[in-house]
Formats: sequence, structure tokens, C-alpha cells
Amino acid sequence: MSCQLGDKITDNKTYKVLLVEDDKLDQMAFERLVKEQELAYDYRIAGSYAQAKSILDSEKFDVVITDYSLGDGTAFDVFNLLGDMPVICATGAGDQETAVKAMKAGAYDYMIKDFAHNYLKVLPQVVEKAINHKKTKDALKEYHDNLETLVKQRTEQLAEEKELLAVTLSSMSDGVIAVDAQKRIILFNKVAEDLTGWSFNDAQTKTVDDVLRIIDDKTKKVVQSPFDKVLDSGGTESGTDRDVLIAKDGSRYPVYATAAPIRKEDGAIIGVVMVLRDVAREREIDRMKTDFVSSVSHELRTPLTSIKAYTATILRDPNMPEQVRNEFLTIVNEESDMLKNLIEGLLEISRIESGAVKFSREPMDITTVIEQVLAGLQHFADKTNIHLKTDIGDELGQLQGDEGKIQSMIMNLVNNAIKFTQENGEVSISVRREGNELVIIVGDNGMGIPKEALPRIFDRFYRVIQSGKGIPGTGLGLAIVKDIVNMHAGRIEVQSEIGQGTTFTVFLPLNTQAALYL
Ligand code: ADP
Repeated sequence: MSCQLGDKITDNKTYKVLLVEDDKLDQMAFERLVKEQELAYDYRIAGSYAQAKSILDSEKFDVVITDYSLGDGTAFDVFNLLGDMPVICATGAGDQETAVKAMKAGAYDYMIKDFAHNYLKVLPQVVEKAINHKKTKDALKEYHDNLETLVKQRTEQLAEEKELLAVTLSSMSDGVIAVDAQKRIILFNKVAEDLTGWSFNDAQTKTVDDVLRIIDDKTKKVVQSPFDKVLDSGGTESGTDRDVLIAKDGSRYPVYATAAPIRKEDGAIIGVVMVLRDVAREREIDRMKTDFVSSVSHELRTPLTSIKAYTATILRDPNMPEQVRNEFLTIVNEESDMLKNLIEGLLEISRIESGAVKFSREPMDITTVIEQVLAGLQHFADKTNIHLKTDIGDELGQLQGDEGKIQSMIMNLVNNAIKFTQENGEVSISVRREGNELVIIVGDNGMGIPKEALPRIFDRFYRVIQSGKGIPGTGLGLAIVKDIVNMHAGRIEVQSEIGQGTTFTVFLPLNTQAALYL
């Protein structure tokens, strides 16, 4: 028996054991057992329920062995004192029913006592098992508790990650759409909603092909869906620079789409994610660049063709009458001036816009600047008997900027005013201060600008067809004026009535940090 026992005990720890037993003989038999088998029990014996209660008030045990019937109570009363301490119930011979009840009430095991105390032979094993059982139960509980905390932490972490993903996707400036392998929409961010005109909820009830229609801007045919392309090729796919998205309401958006497969760890494709960028602005800039290059070439070719034609004619005919030759040479001369002005204008614009030239930012006397401009243009105004009028206010404040550019800006405006005003007309320049702004007004009572042309007059090369006839010009003057105004953090407005005249008003910030684009 002791040998068997020795096999079972796994550590050399002393067990704390409480025996609740009112029978003196049984108590002694227990003590004898412990002694004889040298059991590592640190035990106490309670001879009644009351004694057990007082011991258990202050002590805990690894195991409690209790007799069923105690003089002042039963084993069930003892059970109530134990908390989670394992208990073994010992009942009188033949009282199986009580034993079963005790098990149901939470006893770990029961033993039927016999007069010869044979049951004690197995007691050490039962004790050992009860303690091990308790240990396993505790370990299991701890594991379970840890698991619960772990699951809770992981769930919170997942919720946070989901939230972060949602915030990231919604704050992206590109549309993001993800589908599963059956092309069902699983993700659709705000920009995708705005571009396609479909809400995520509605989109989920459709296939992605209904929601995302992309056509080729040139052929007007629907292009192969980026999702299909990825599912076919298994690689990343991009659209072309002619792709146009047709939204739910039929609006069109130039887009650039890139789609990539979503793979499982084993490499299998489980979906596709696509990023959709609205490239309206980029395409517009590209178009403007192309337009600009073609208009520059056109504008340069026109005077050049004429120069070439007249010089060729002169060269072909050595006997050309003097007067005709002079007329032709005058035209060549004028066209060369035109060409020179065009090239200078273009260079001026590109210098300002590229920021290649360093502009000075100095205090200037605007009155002197205006006087210089008028002195330079007086001769030109006199040719058509145009009266130049000035109205310079007091206390104008200190304008800071690039004096040369400001002079060129006023020169362009006054030059136009003289050019587009009939003989004996009037051109006025007034300057005054309004709050923290210097206001320069150049007005004339000339031919005026048609309403529909007003939004375009600051465009490069734009000239109003009627007024431009016979009046030399490049269509670059106002584009340069606008650039100079912007450079000084100012703004320009125009008012005009056909046959009544035109007024350009320039607002420039005074003495402020705003005038720092220089
Ligand atoms: P340009 O004077 O070389 O033609 P601008 O860019 O200076 O080019 O002006 C663009 C066009 O705006 C002119 O061709 C003209 O049709 C119109 N315009 C500008 N200023 C006036 C004005 N004061 N009165 C009438 N039309 C004007």
C-alpha cells in the first residue's frame, strides 16, 4: 500500500488535511495511518461541527475529510464552510444513499467506513487524487480566465484596427473598392461613393460591374473591368489615361484605376482591391499644356509666314517699284515687331511663372511710377488725341514690391486703354487707399469688351476678335498683368460696357505680410 502511494505522490509537499470526525476510534485510526505510512500530512482533527467551524474560520486546507454524522451537525453543514476546498465524505457502512447525496452536494469522493478501518487503506490515494483534481481544476479555471481576457483584448484590438482602417479609408482622397472572388462588394469608401454616385448599402445589392462602369474616352466603349483583369491575370492591373468613369446619374469623371489581388497565405486569390483616382485636374492641365504649345506655334507661325512671303516676293522681283517695296518692307517690319513682342511676352510669362527670376521687394512711390508710365505713353496717346487724366489720392500708404513689374503692369493697362479707345477719347488713372489696400483704377471710354469675352481676357493669346482687328497686339498683355498682380498677392477686376468703355481695378495689399509672393 505504502509503495503504491509513494508512486502516486508527485511532489514532496506536505498537505494540510482537516479531519472532521466525532468518533474517537476513527480519529485514532487516522492518526495511526499517518504515522505508520509516514504520510506528509500536516493535519488537524475537529471532533464536532462546532470545532470544525472554528478551525475553518482561520485556516485553509488542501483537503478536508469529514464524517457524515457529527454530534452537532452533518457533513452537509461542513460543506458550507469549505468554499473551494476539496472534501471527501466518510459515511457509515451501507449508507450508499447519503454518499450519493454528498457527491451531488459537491464532495469530491466518498468512503464507506467499516469497523476494521479498511477504508483507511485507500485514503491516501483518495486524498492525493482529490488534491490533484483541485489543482487541475484551478489550472483550468486560470486558463479559462486568461483565455477570456485574451479574447477580450483581441476583440478590442480587432475593433480598434477596424476603426483605424475605416478612418484611414474614409480620409483617403482616392476611392477604394474591394470585392471578393465572386465580385461582391465588401468595401466601398466615401470617395468611391462620391465618384460612382452609389451608396455602400445600395452598391452591396449590385454586382461591381453595375456600379463601376468605365469607358474609353476615345472609343466610347466600355473597357474590361479592372476586377476581371486582375482575376484573369492574377497580377496588378492599371487603367489607361483615357479611362472615364460613368457615375450612377450619368456624370463622367476622368479616372485612373489600379487594381491588385487580395491573396490568402497560401496564395489563392480571395478578392481584388482597387484604388480609383479622380484625374480631372491632371487631364485638364495636360490638355492646357497641349493647347498652349499649339497656340504658341500658331501665333509664331502667322507673322513668320507673312514675313517669309513678303521677303520672297521682294527677292523674286528686283524691278519692284520703290513704293510697293517700301510698303512690303513696312509690313515685314511690323510683323517682326509682332514676333519680337510675342517672344518677349512669352519669356516674361515663363520667367514669372517658373519663379526663375528673383523679384525685388522694395518700398516704391506709386505716384512716380504712374508719372513715368504716362510720360512714356503720352506720345502714343497724342497720335489719336486721347486725353490722359490722373487722380492721385493722398496718404496712399507704402506699397512694397517689384517696381519694374508694377510699372509694366500699369503700362499694359494704360496702353490697352489707349489702343482700344477711339480718337479724342479719354483714359484715366486713379489711385487711392482703401483700408489696407492700394486701389489702382485704369478706365477708358473706348469700345468696351463683350460680356461673353470678359471671363477669357486674362487667358494667354486671347483677343476679342472685333476689337483686335487692325489693332496690333499679342493677347499676352493681360495674362502678364494678372501674373504680376498675383505675385503681389493682389487681385484684379474688370467692368465693361460695349461702346461705353472699360475699367480695370487692381487691389494691392499695403504694408502687409501678404505681399510676400516675391
Ligand atoms: P493685346 O492687347 O495684346 O491684344 P491683352 O492680353 O492685353 O492683349 O488683351 C486681351 C484682349 O482684351 C485685347 O485683345 C482686347 O480685345 C481686350 N481688351 C483689353 N483691354 C481692353 C480695353 N481697355 N478696352 C477694350 N478691350 C480691351
